[in-house]
Amino acid sequence: MSLVNLETILGDARKNKYAVGAFDVSNNDMAMAVIEVAEELKSPVILMGLTIDLQGDKLKYWTDSLRDMAKKASIPVCLHLDHATDVDFIKKSIDSGFTSVMFDGSVLPIEENIKITKEVVEYAHKFNVSVEAELGHVGDGIVGNSETGAKKDDKDGYDNPDDFLTDPKEMKHFIDSTNIDALAVAIGTAHGVYVHEPKLHFDRLDTLNKISTVPMVMHGGSGTPDEALKKSIELGICKINIFSEMLTGFFTSLKELLNSKEHMAIWPSTAYAKPLEAMKDVVRAKMTLLGSKNRVK
Ligand SMILES: [Zn+2]
Repeated sequence: MSLVNLETILGDARKNKYAVGAFDVSNNDMAMAVIEVAEELKSPVILMGLTIDLQGDKLKYWTDSLRDMAKKASIPVCLHLDHATDVDFIKKSIDSGFTSVMFDGSVLPIEENIKITKEVVEYAHKFNVSVEAELGHVGDGIVGNSETGAKKDDKDGYDNPDDFLTDPKEMKHFIDSTNIDALAVAIGTAHGVYVHEPKLHFDRLDTLNKISTVPMVMHGGSGTPDEALKKSIELGICKINIFSEMLTGFFTSLKELLNSKEHMAIWPSTAYAKPLEAMKDVVRAKMTLLGSKNRVK
């Protein structure tokens, strides 16, 4: 159907109270698998690229091939740069054809986060590219040991996990000053694989939802219980980022297959078939849960 920006895809989600799944895809196989599920379910979808997968010449190849896939897809597809901190790289990504970018200034002091986010927005909007920013800080679950996934003595230096959460007092000022299109909020989820089940701060989310004039984004959707995701959508979350669960599905299946073989001279298409199906099962389940199924008429 079309290659769209984040503002377009989340506008409908916000109006009709569902969330769009945003999936990190490191290569063409992953991207095709996600698009196939989105087409099957008639769901809009956000494909995300990570800086680590895009450096050097890879940026151009990733964007060119995914733009082509998106244009041929029967559903709206947004190409979004996930978690970028380098403004030059963000501008290059916009020039290469991304339709949405995230500037992650979540560890910066707020005024600096505002200043750089604003610079990114001014550049991006000239090309009709949307911008997601982050206020508060979503930590990393795989190394974490607190309820927000942050270690007390990590480099961010927070003593109290609540210090990570998005501050309602800062929200309006941040949105009004930057003119962003979507805002990632910290409400208790974390990136990676959880060491403890996350405790989400729904009261905080409810307060943020009443203040926010833009769609809100949840990072750390993988491993967050289904009921918590549903409740978050009711309270204004419109984009949910998923990566770790896709990887777990893919590599668990690949490991099983490789362990069952005596010789490793296996055709890649044979080796990847079941793992890609396992990954597609995760994507299918998330899109259904998020309520984005059958939204494309
Ligand atoms: Zn994230």
